[in-house]
Amino acid sequence: MWREGEERSLFSHIFLLNAPGKERLLPLSAPFWPRAILHVDMDAFYASVEQRDNPELRGKPVIVAGDPKRRGVVSAASYEVRAYGVRSAMPTGKALRLCPHAIRVFPRMERYQEVSETIFRIFARYTPLIQAVSLDEAFLDVTASQRLHGDPVTMAQKIRAAIRTETELTASVGVAASRIVAKIASDLDKPDGLTVIPESEREARLDTLPAARIWGVGPVTNKQLEKLGIRTIGQLRQWPAASLQAILGKSGSELHALANGRDDSEVVPDSTEKSISHETTFAVDVVSMEELETTLRWIADKVATRLRRRRMAGKTIFLKVRYGDFTTVTRRRTLPRATNLSETIFATALTLLRGGTQAGRRPVRLLGAGVASFSGESGQQGELFPSGERDAAKMERFERAADAIRSKLGDRSLRRASQSGWSEDTEEEWGGRGGKTE
Ligand SMILES: [Mg+2]
Repeated sequence: MWREGEERSLFSHIFLLNAPGKERLLPLSAPFWPRAILHVDMDAFYASVEQRDNPELRGKPVIVAGDPKRRGVVSAASYEVRAYGVRSAMPTGKALRLCPHAIRVFPRMERYQEVSETIFRIFARYTPLIQAVSLDEAFLDVTASQRLHGDPVTMAQKIRAAIRTETELTASVGVAASRIVAKIASDLDKPDGLTVIPESEREARLDTLPAARIWGVGPVTNKQLEKLGIRTIGQLRQWPAASLQAILGKSGSELHALANGRDDSEVVPDSTEKSISHETTFAVDVVSMEELETTLRWIADKVATRLRRRRMAGKTIFLKVRYGDFTTVTRRRTLPRATNLSETIFATALTLLRGGTQAGRRPVRLLGAGVASFSGESGQQGELFPSGERDAAKMERFERAADAIRSKLGDRSLRRASQSGWSEDTEEEWGGRGGKTE
């Protein structure tokens, strides 16, 4: 595994005397990060936009929220009102009981959309690999941008500065070698924070944090972990992967991998999303064909469920295998008809796994599968489901029920970054970009 410290050479720093008795350490050549991900998250976005636009709201407890009489909820809370325990996603009525003098502002979505576009244009100066989580939150893969723009920390500083200058708002940024760690990092020093967690410092920085900091660990999973005596990321990391899997199902092993920083998931730009896929990094490299098959079935289920939820189907099934030494191969097969059925995706991907890879003989680090070559939205139903829509619908219902039975409790409560738009602020509920990341 790469460690940032090892990248520094003895000569990478020079002392610069720019004033008598005052020396500064300047990087001569900044360390190159083999993988560099930024997670940028605006601070109390909607509320901050309101405070910026209306000076009389500055320094005051502000909630951007729907009508309490219509069971509205808080979509953003200013830092002043958070002191009273008010949080986003809370019913407006409850927020007003906690802080009766809170100033309620109705959401102005077009305004937030406008500001969001400005922010995303700033991101685009540094990388085309931007994945929106919501209007005010995104992952940026800046690995390939380092030669042009310097190291990821410098880029993070420049992005923060540009946001401040061009929008008069603040953002918190996390810099790390994976999405999962970058996401945790951006939250550590909010508001207006910059937190850098290189791979070499990951364990030291994360081990004492609550396990619930891991993106996707919801209250249900957290309760299950607490029953096992697991409260911190460090405890989760050291727990045997096999027993976690036995208790929580497949998501237990995924969770273990995440706690160990094993997150190879990619930043997928929304505009280029031409496929739906799921992949998982194993806690320990896998040789057993049986375990690979079980995982592949689980992946096929996830992909099929997401396709059906979007009412989509595709003709090309692809498989991705990353071996222990990080060599990655993809294999694909195009079917005569588009599908969104778990069985078909699984069977095709399994054929590719058996016939087209060294799985079973060579340790596998990551396994993924997906569907591409989507059919058009209109007029293709007959072709999609030759036996008639009703049969297809029946089959879908059957598979959905099967999905539900197969998935254990933890499976439902654990939502990966790739499937949900979950974040501290639930702003995407208001029609942000959450749908893209489903
Ligand atoms: Mg935010």
